Amino acid sequence: MNILVCIKQVPGTSKVEVDPITGVLKRDGVDSKMNPYDLFALETALRLKEKHGGEVKVITMGPPQAEEVIKEAYSMGADYGVILSDRKFAGADVLATSYTLSQGIKKMGDVDIIICGKQTTDGDTAQVGPEIAEYLDIPHIANVLSIENVGQGSITVKMDMPNTLEVAKIEYPCLITVEKDIFEPRLPSYRKKKDTEEREVKFLCLNDFEDKEENKYGLNGSPTQVERIFPPAVNDHKEMWEGNSDELANRMFKSLKDMKFI
Ligand SMILES: Cc1cc2nc3c(=O)[nH]c(=O)nc-3n(C[C@H](O)[C@H](O)[C@H](O)COP(=O)(O)OP(=O)(O)OC[C@H]3O[C@@H](n4cnc5c(N)ncnc54)[C@H](O)[C@@H]3O)c2cc1C
Repeated sequence: MNILVCIKQVPGTSKVEVDPITGVLKRDGVDSKMNPYDLFALETALRLKEKHGGEVKVITMGPPQAEEVIKEAYSMGADYGVILSDRKFAGADVLATSYTLSQGIKKMGDVDIIICGKQTTDGDTAQVGPEIAEYLDIPHIANVLSIENVGQGSITVKMDMPNTLEVAKIEYPCLITVEKDIFEPRLPSYRKKKDTEEREVKFLCLNDFEDKEENKYGLNGSPTQVERIFPPAVNDHKEMWEGNSDELANRMFKSLKDMKFI
């Protein structure tokens, strides 16, 4: 079974600066960690491999420092990792990110299942997985809660829909995004870390892709433009009212009406 896991490096701190001109996050040199949801995706892949054989590959797109999450994945049991890193990928919105990942995945050979986390803790859109599948023209299922059955040419999963749980069978090659708690992620192993210290992390850039059209990547390939990023204003205006309950209720009613809440 060929399994590929998409993992993203996210800021491990809330102190991230935003470029005032482009509105994009300055990620270089920021303390980072593996997106917590991707630990569940990786654990799912490792369990599938342990039970059904095969190989677990991981892929990430990000600045060169994102190599750290590939190394972390090696110390959990992943076999091979690729990082997509190129200045031309910088400033990518969800569409450009998904396209870049789909191009990278095409370079990684045959795959049966691609597993993504449900969402990230920074961008938080939960759109990347399904968009990768659309670009690769393969079926996908989001919000997978559990793996029900693994067959020769398909996998059966339970998914969490807004009001129901649904079971669906999906043929390979396919993409699933997994919920947290599908399995408890294992801790990285010190021994595996030592054993994989010298293992290669493959870097790919735009020139390695089949589609080298620059306008599809990074800021150029991003239809979404950030106009402004700002912390929400804190409203610490307070008023003290005194009176009996009828007076206070009337005043509250008038105040809410003036503010157009009612
Ligand atoms: C206009 C604009 C500009 C932006 N500029 C930048 C920028 O300059 N630098 C920057 O870092 N971000 C930038 N972003 C944010 C970036 O687009 C998102 O972080 C990225 O598209 C992933 O989306 P998400 O975090 O919502 O992932 P989600 O859709 O929530 O992630 C779901 C899953 O997809 C996979 N996944 C997501 N991203 C990656 C990845 N990079 N590598 C591997 N797997 C992944 C993971 O499995 C993850 O659990 C920008 C966004 C916009 C709208």
